[in-house]
Amino acid sequence: MSFPYPISSDYAAHVARGDPGIDLATPVGVDLYVPRGTWQVSLSRFITRADGSPSYGETMEITDGILRLGFAHLKRRGYALGAMPDPGKVFAQTGDTGNVTGPHVHIWAIKGGVKVDPTNIEALQEVFEVAQFTDEQAKMLISLIKQSEEDLQAKPGAIPGKLRDLAKRVKAIENAGGTPHSHKVTGTAT
Ligand SMILES: [Zn+2]
Repeated sequence: MSFPYPISSDYAAHVARGDPGIDLATPVGVDLYVPRGTWQVSLSRFITRADGSPSYGETMEITDGILRLGFAHLKRRGYALGAMPDPGKVFAQTGDTGNVTGPHVHIWAIKGGVKVDPTNIEALQEVFEVAQFTDEQAKMLISLIKQSEEDLQAKPGAIPGKLRDLAKRVKAIENAGGTPHSHKVTGTAT
């Protein structure tokens, strides 16, 4: 998976120092978007450590109930603990808070209570790039895909024609436009 910002410290390096995650070399103020699906804010805090060990600064974590994705050293948190921001909304902005040598975002991923390598987690791609379709377009596409699946199961011989038809209808949905997602950070977490 490729991120729009270079990995400045990879998973292996983080594991070696007992803090599994990755660092992306983001400038201050990069918008982080809620991925598709249903996500809830599971952590929204300024995290400091009095003992002098690294602190995360402004930190947010979101979860879809299976996966937890955490983001540290933020400039701004857009939502408080428990909030359920819509997909495509900006939930935070990158920054340089906490114990850092420069602006970056530290990211962790937790599955089944265990920190895992975030590098290949697909939802992270959408965190850095707002989904290209509006919610309405996405809904139309999903129903089209479901209908196509049923059609193809009923008539496997019709696949080439069905695929051409599908491509045409996807293009029509792309061209239909719609209301763009809001990119505004709303609310102030405490
Ligand atoms: Zn880090």
